[in-house]
Amino acid sequence: MPISASQPQHVLVLNCGSSSLKFAIINALNGDEIISGLAERLGAKTPSIKYKFNNKKTLIELAENEAHAEAINTLVSLIKEHHLDEHLIAVGHRVVHGGEHFTESALINDDVISAIKQASSLAPLHGHANLLGITSAQAAFAGLPQIAVFDTAFHQSMNEVAYLYALPYKLYTDYGVRRYGFHGTSHFYVAGQTAALLNLDINKSNFISAHLGNGCSVCAIKNGQSVDTSMGLTPLEGLMMGTRSGDIDPGLFNFLTTQLDYSAQQIDDLLNQKSGLLGISELSNDCRTIEEAAIAGDKKATLALDMFCYRLAKQIAAFMVPLQRLDAIIFTGGIGENSDIIREKVISQLLYLGVNCDKEANLAARFGSQGIISSTSAHSKAVVMPTNEEWVIANDAARIAKEL
Ligand code: ADP
Repeated sequence: MPISASQPQHVLVLNCGSSSLKFAIINALNGDEIISGLAERLGAKTPSIKYKFNNKKTLIELAENEAHAEAINTLVSLIKEHHLDEHLIAVGHRVVHGGEHFTESALINDDVISAIKQASSLAPLHGHANLLGITSAQAAFAGLPQIAVFDTAFHQSMNEVAYLYALPYKLYTDYGVRRYGFHGTSHFYVAGQTAALLNLDINKSNFISAHLGNGCSVCAIKNGQSVDTSMGLTPLEGLMMGTRSGDIDPGLFNFLTTQLDYSAQQIDDLLNQKSGLLGISELSNDCRTIEEAAIAGDKKATLALDMFCYRLAKQIAAFMVPLQRLDAIIFTGGIGENSDIIREKVISQLLYLGVNCDKEANLAARFGSQGIISSTSAHSKAVVMPTNEEWVIANDAARIAKEL
């Protein structure tokens, strides 16, 4: 039955990681969150689900080794118990890798599933979890359209000069080895919101957005399109992150294997899990903890923050090559939205771009508030813009469901 414009349009948004599942029911008309939660440690000893509904937080313990399918079953019972299924019109899935096949969100059918499987060879851990989420949700919500929203899709507008590696061309044509970029829904969303905040036409604006969470990436956005981004074939490339190294000399592989006897798996683990802020601070991957330690005088914590900001500023400056002109730098993600320290340190290294940092505005922008943190005289603005990937997914899913 077609969906009428007047009826509530709730979308269940699922974001499956390898051992976690984030979920929310979002009203696609206004972004209101009806219920939201997180299932963690799936497949391990003490899996659990915590969720927030009607401002009340609840924790459900799952049985040992229960994983995505059981978590989704528990979620279905919860949804039914609170009669939240009555207004559901679609399920939206965050899918990490869409390869070159997907330039926009897609209604899930057998062809889409095989294309996701194909792209999954580029990100096996994420891909496997995303597919598990999709099949479990198809079984649980058989009557609802399921829509895949890809982290990579927004970056498909990059041209080959930006997305190719300087490797033998056949690796690209035969195996799809190229830069794809991630965090696409977030970069897309904050660019649109920033254009609205600054009263600019998105189709005539040049932005650099910095999504700084546990994973971090920068995106150069020209006239509403991604023209370059810092992540690559996998989310490991580019910036220094919570536990990921970001860019390194690929010659390191040879050194680690021949001199230190590392296996491919150990190298992957080193670069993805043990590096970044954690590797340098030898303390934590959590920016807050590191900031507190730096303020208390910890030298390695200070070094970790300085490196994080230097490398971020360097990447932002590099993106002036495709952009040439800059309207605003956008900070988003847990760190970007909350850390005045990081924002100030980064902007102070980019003054020649015509951007600056207003101390009071910078201190005031936190805990989900949006705002301009540069002074009124700044030629290019600095903006804090909370991201909302769930809403982008809900919107896209609702739009596609309404077209059926
Ligand atoms: P994810 O990528 O898992 O979604 P988030 O976007 O939630 O991560 O970002 C998590 C990061 O945000 C952590 O490093 C955390 O320390 C940092 N963060 C959250 N609040 C603050 C704060 N007030 N000051 C500094 N960093 C913060």
